[in-house]
Amino acid sequence: MKRVITIDGPCGAGKSTIAKLVAEKINFKYLDTGAFYRAIALYLHRKGINISASDDKIKRIIKGLNIEFKDSKIFINKKDVSSLIRTPEIGYYSSIFSTKKIVRDFLITPQRKFAERYNTVAEGRDMGTIIFPNAWKKFYLDASIEERAKRRYFQLIKINKNFTMEHAIKDIKERDFRDMHRSIAPLKIPKDAIYIDTTKLTIEETVKEIIKWAFGMT
Ligand code: C5P
Repeated sequence: MKRVITIDGPCGAGKSTIAKLVAEKINFKYLDTGAFYRAIALYLHRKGINISASDDKIKRIIKGLNIEFKDSKIFINKKDVSSLIRTPEIGYYSSIFSTKKIVRDFLITPQRKFAERYNTVAEGRDMGTIIFPNAWKKFYLDASIEERAKRRYFQLIKINKNFTMEHAIKDIKERDFRDMHRSIAPLKIPKDAIYIDTTKLTIEETVKEIIKWAFGMT
């Protein structure tokens, strides 16, 4: 039985960076589950599917689709799409399509399969609640909206020069609302998770905190 550490939290809480570093330090594999939602959103968008499409239609389009996460890269039907999924547009579509049961159900198996093979640090919105309810250790990372928007802004300005701080705040608020209020697998603090507010913590401090809680050491 492999060990799984889950890290849930809202966007901009630092989950990806932290999960990657924790995994490296303890020699686990990093699982970025947002990449699955982004990849499927990219695929559906390119197929001309919009959010009003019926579940049946989406089901037909994604049937047989192969989504795989390997070495921090995401593949659709064996094609590496990692460099195409980090745009604000695909972020938006992934947040919308991730509210669909058909999409969430489809992505359960590839996420769990990964953790059957490796000791895993899994990062997302429903890791500790739905995907890995029996995880070895669970964490929930949070930060103030202002801090998360600032982090988002500095991340996205690198790829989109027109992105503003106002965009970042609006984007974060909308995503929080969708993630926390959707009927299926809403973002919430798993009841057995350790809550860490990263607003005033550096990346290194947060990583240390997680390793301390997980292993009782730094
Ligand atoms: O974390 P990231 O921003 O890459 O995730 C993209 C979108 O996928 C999020 O806005 C969220 O709506 C969705 N997501 C999810 N469940 C996960 C991971 C991501 O609903 N486990």
